[in-house]
Amino acid sequence: MELIDGNAIAAAIVAELKQEVAARPGRKPCIALVRVGEDPASVSYVRKKEKTAAEIGVTSRVILPPETISQAELFTLLDELNTDPTVDGILVQSPLPKHIDELAVFRRVSPEKDVDGFNTLNLGKVAQEDETGFVACTPAGIMELLARSGVDLKGRHVVVLGRSLIVGKPVALLALQKKAGANGTVTICHSATSNLSALTRQADVLIAAIGRAEFVTADMVKPGAVVIDVGVNRVPDPTKKTGYRLTGDVHFPTVAPLCSRITPVPGGVGPMTVAMLMKNTVKAHRLRTEAG
Ligand code: NAP
Repeated sequence: MELIDGNAIAAAIVAELKQEVAARPGRKPCIALVRVGEDPASVSYVRKKEKTAAEIGVTSRVILPPETISQAELFTLLDELNTDPTVDGILVQSPLPKHIDELAVFRRVSPEKDVDGFNTLNLGKVAQEDETGFVACTPAGIMELLARSGVDLKGRHVVVLGRSLIVGKPVALLALQKKAGANGTVTICHSATSNLSALTRQADVLIAAIGRAEFVTADMVKPGAVVIDVGVNRVPDPTKKTGYRLTGDVHFPTVAPLCSRITPVPGGVGPMTVAMLMKNTVKAHRLRTEAG
């Protein structure tokens, strides 16, 4: 079994982006990071994004509206950022407070600045295999992890657990694309799928993105499969200072020995998400600069 080291692969991407940004004349890329409220996980995710941006030479503008911001006020803020010529990318950290329609917010971000890739147009471009758009960061990160680990999906059965707009659906579309590294035969499973284990056991590549701690057990995995664990779950653990430990959607101790390759949690898909956000921001800056 070989571990797919997301930290190392993400660090390589960050180093490449740093070189690319250093070589660009003029104004550096800029990302606006909008975090509504004080959700502790969001605080730490935005801090990590800010830190990685600084490492690459991307300017970040952190905007912290209160939890009580109305949807209309948030739209006004996004409209200002959409038209601000010094901002290349906009990220609205999810989750948003319950009174705000998250999908409407994703749609409000201008497609040219939608470095999170959640806007309708950018999701559509993934389906159309139009590379001028922005691919959502976690799915893009999964494809990059596979490519840089030498895993070619051509002719292989890819089973995706989960059909969310943020992970499951876009990663399934990417694996299906008619291009080098992809060309997978894809099955998507969800909470209404019957005989789930019979399907997962057929997977040459299993991508688990359901948000259920250690759901995928050894009896669900074909020996020699590649397993990508997207899940980030907090499990109570009194031996930890925090009172919890982070675990994926895969029961790592029993599944890992069966696999040819597997991503750990933490240190697998997570670091790739931030690296791909930066890659999208640097791309947005290049496209805007080229367009004049
Ligand atoms: P989500 O929006 O809650 O979607 C979960 C999906 O899993 C849904 O499609 C759901 O089916 C399906 N599902 C739930 N229970 C199931 C079961 N027992 N059997 C089969 N399918 C089941 O979650 P998400 O946003 O895609 O995130 C999934 C996980 O990835 C979470 O742990 C999240 O924290 C993690 N994540 C990690 C990163 C990262 O950077 N590492 C980024 C994003 C998300 P239905 O559609 O039928 O409800």
